Amino acid sequence: MRTTLAWQAGEPATTSLVRAPIRRRDLRPDDVAVRVDFCGVCHTDLHALRAHDGTRDSPLVPGHEFTGTVTEIGSAVTTHAVGDPVAVGNIVDSCGTCAMCLAGQENFCREFPTLTYDGTDRRDGSRTLGGYAREYVVRDRFVHALPRGLDPAAAAPLLCAGITVWEPLRTLGVGPSTRVAVAGLGGLGHLAVKLAVALGADTTVISRTPDKAADAKGLGADGLLVSTDEEAMAAARDSFDVVIDTISAPHDLAPYLHVVAMDGTLCQVGDLGTVSVDIIDLLIGRKRLTSAGSGGLATTADLLAFAAEHGIGADVEVLPSSRVSEALDRLDRGDVRYRFVLDMSDLDA
Ligand SMILES: [Zn+2]
Ligand SMILES: [Zn+2]
Repeated sequence: MRTTLAWQAGEPATTSLVRAPIRRRDLRPDDVAVRVDFCGVCHTDLHALRAHDGTRDSPLVPGHEFTGTVTEIGSAVTTHAVGDPVAVGNIVDSCGTCAMCLAGQENFCREFPTLTYDGTDRRDGSRTLGGYAREYVVRDRFVHALPRGLDPAAAAPLLCAGITVWEPLRTLGVGPSTRVAVAGLGGLGHLAVKLAVALGADTTVISRTPDKAADAKGLGADGLLVSTDEEAMAAARDSFDVVIDTISAPHDLAPYLHVVAMDGTLCQVGDLGTVSVDIIDLLIGRKRLTSAGSGGLATTADLLAFAAEHGIGADVEVLPSSRVSEALDRLDRGDVRYRFVLDMSDLDA
């Protein structure tokens, strides 16, 4: 075993993390050791910390969208070399043999993919500890080459927030002339807008308040639709081929289904749990309701290549990792444009 410094929950249900050493496994033949340089702060991290009851024998170390540098490779690794810039997302292993894995959808593995933190390693049964740390050890297949030209801090959020909106944009065939609306302008939403615009879509932001107009425009969107403006929502009825709904708080899906065009799709990417939908809102216009989360390995590589080609990264506020608790608390208040990224280099000091 080797050790590295990490930010971990010292007690149950807290966002106040403490700096302490954790153990990482010695490299297996197909493992890669990554020095974590930048790690995004995701809403899932907040949820996990709140749900952490402290009864497990391992600490909770969040962090599942990070970029870094390869420092060591296992004896059988041929796809990565020491010094390579790389990126790791929210899954780090899967069974590799089920229908989902064979279809390239490791994120839907029927045995459930191994999560980057608070998951169970498939080989030794240990709890996985996340990227709020200076080093991560990960199976080679789940390490993505980070294309040159991508800023490593701005690229980190692509690995969770980005891929979660990229998979539906890609699989729903968004391209030039597709009419796309993105509801909610947070970590996921702002990346959905940038990616849809780069795909050539006619892109609209849906927001509760008109004060997001300048932000929407700054991200490249063609317009803003204010969801509390009943007249504007009525005028937008049946007008979007794809609506990506990134609003994570419980809300009525009906107004968003109403603005979906005939045979169009509402994709809800927040983890809303059980929702109620009047089938008539699907029936009229043969509308589709779907969801998405994370992405397969091939689609993630596709995203990174696309982002590099189009110069797309998240809009980030980079903080030294020692300010992780401040980042979590401000994220909880919605006080971020649009993603916090922790610079892990202060863990060396
Ligand atoms: Zn995440
Ligand atoms: Zn599988």
